[in-house]
Amino acid sequence: MTGSPRPTGGLDWFRLAAILLVAANHTGPLRSIAPTANYLVTDILARLAVPFFLAVSGYFLLPRVKKEGTAILRPFFRRCLLLYAGAALLYLPLKLALGIAPSPLELVRDVLFEGVYYHLWYFPAVFLGLCIVAHLYRWGTISAIALCSVLYLIGLLGDSYYGLSAALPFLDGFYYLLFALFGQSRNGLFLAPIFLVLGGVLAERPIPHKLQPVVWRLCAALLMLVAEGMLVRNLGLARYTTMYLSLPLCLWFLMDVLRTLPLPPQPRLRTFSTAFYILHPLCIIGVRGMARLMGLTSILVDISPLYYCAVVGSSALLSFPFLFLSPRQRQVPLTRAWLENDPAALSHNLTLLSSLLPSETKLMAVLKANAYGHGAIWAARLCQKEGVQSFAVATAEEGTELRRHGIRGLILVLGYTAPAGAPLLSRYHLTQTIISPEHALALEQTGYPLAVHIKVDTGLHRLGFSWRDGAALATPFCCPHLRVTGLFTHLSDTETIDRLSQERTREELRRFEVAAHSLEVLGHYVPAKHIQSSYGLLNDGPLPGMAYVRVGIALYGVLSSSENHILRVLALHPVLSLRAKVTQVQELVPGEPAGYGGTFLARRPTRLATVAIGYADGIPRSLSLGRGGALLHGQYAPIVATVCMDQLLLDVTDVPAVTPGDNATFFGLDGTEFLSIETMAEQADTITNELLSRLGPRLPRVVKSYD
Ligand SMILES: *Cc1c(COP(=O)(O)O)cnc(C)c1O
Repeated sequence: MTGSPRPTGGLDWFRLAAILLVAANHTGPLRSIAPTANYLVTDILARLAVPFFLAVSGYFLLPRVKKEGTAILRPFFRRCLLLYAGAALLYLPLKLALGIAPSPLELVRDVLFEGVYYHLWYFPAVFLGLCIVAHLYRWGTISAIALCSVLYLIGLLGDSYYGLSAALPFLDGFYYLLFALFGQSRNGLFLAPIFLVLGGVLAERPIPHKLQPVVWRLCAALLMLVAEGMLVRNLGLARYTTMYLSLPLCLWFLMDVLRTLPLPPQPRLRTFSTAFYILHPLCIIGVRGMARLMGLTSILVDISPLYYCAVVGSSALLSFPFLFLSPRQRQVPLTRAWLENDPAALSHNLTLLSSLLPSETKLMAVLKANAYGHGAIWAARLCQKEGVQSFAVATAEEGTELRRHGIRGLILVLGYTAPAGAPLLSRYHLTQTIISPEHALALEQTGYPLAVHIKVDTGLHRLGFSWRDGAALATPFCCPHLRVTGLFTHLSDTETIDRLSQERTREELRRFEVAAHSLEVLGHYVPAKHIQSSYGLLNDGPLPGMAYVRVGIALYGVLSSSENHILRVLALHPVLSLRAKVTQVQELVPGEPAGYGGTFLARRPTRLATVAIGYADGIPRSLSLGRGGALLHGQYAPIVATVCMDQLLLDVTDVPAVTPGDNATFFGLDGTEFLSIETMAEQADTITNELLSRLGPRLPRVVKSYD
């Protein structure tokens, strides 16, 4: 999910131009009147169309692949496959009827590379190209560009510049083989990757401030393309005219111009242009057939502008219904209240916290309770992307959810899981915390092979084996279905650093070592040990000899409470902001009450803003009556009257600019002003962990894009 307000309207509108070019490519609109102009349009300019569609795919998909991994490509692939299959079902029978039956071998080649009907090669191209590029991306952008360029050059020498390679005997043989295998060199292996990469790279660059210079650059590149196209034609080099040396340059500047245009997105144009793209060959066949039937071939087909208009008109008509089939809304409309995540802050915190750890200790990202309210999936994906290989959750269901979204590595379930959960644990390779000998035996009895970590209670007295009972601690080792891969405890008093707390921590560490030692004495190996969570790490520094630290709250750039002492003051960045819309602004005269029970009384001419967020969204009711507040236009406004389930009132008398539709920030950055969640926790007399984990499930969680 991205909530980035990238202006994509330019890209959407150009789809119309692109499909007109594709249709031109297949009909030759100026064929009968001006052959050179026709060449210019169909064999040079129209070649921008397919690379444009490819670059757009790269533009939207690759930055997400980089951030969240290749799993995000799945829905796109599914959609492409469905469209391709649908188109194949439409065109294969048609091909047979027209008497162009491919041999089985040709059919395989067509499906894999060429597209089952001439322009459908786009689908295998985008499919293959994305597979290639998504993997090349791992080696860095530069190597991806370099390798894709090499592929493009190979394609080029079998296309517009075939004349060059045909002249060299060894290259000739190579291309003979290539054509036999792939049909043409413009297929997914050679043409698509460079344009996909180009789109992906462009998406990560800032949008230019001024349009004019980019337009000039585009014009220059287009001139180059035309010149190159004419040269290729005059030298008679081309086998096909799909690929030109200057085409990537043109595409780069074209995309840059389009994304600079401040136009709103047009999702309907996307569906329409896709329908047009798939259906127009049907119209080509239709128009030709009709013309023949009516004896009008010499007019309808041979007069090329007329032919082009007939094809475009009928294709547009056929695609018209798709204009109203708007694509599934993927961006959540932020009309009420929402949570805004900053992925850059999360990766910053990860880097900072990891830098505290010695090489033997790994950071285990604690993602319980939907990643402390932030949204577990995107957070897990980002952590995985940044190299984190161990995760912790509270329940088996939370772990399952992560696995279903492609999270690999260790997933430790910190809470108790009853034996009935064993199938789930085993199926999704979750590592279960075992809390007592009875728990171990009960899981053993289920017969499912399970990896487990032993939890030792060293003083918190919440969950775990007693540190004193060595024999009990050894039970899991005697269970053939259980594989003990960890031994851990959770400290009870790391939040403060007074003498008493430090003594308590020291005692708990001693108890843990006693427990570990008793395993050794009984002849068992001591598995991976871990003890500390955020505060332990921040206050005491990492403990030696530990396999993990389980970092939760610090990962999100938050302290549990602003009162906690932190020895290591790290510049952690808060990841989450909570915002809601002002829905109404009302003026009250002095003496006028407001809210249920009239708990607010205007003492001066007052402006009240109604905001669409309430305690069902996680704003504690205890923030009522002026205890809490929010930022509007960078200024603090107190909550007045009582917080309702879905709404609350802010006194905005001192922020006169407030109007309906404005955003109120309950925590996070508003312009240059910042309201911390620690402040909100203090006002509500709780800790940030509670506030975060109680944020309402109905709040959309959006992830800002990096730029
Ligand atoms: C929640 C939890 C953590 C993470 O704690 P933070 O203070 O958020 O870092 C670590 N270990 C256990 C057992 C937990 O339940």
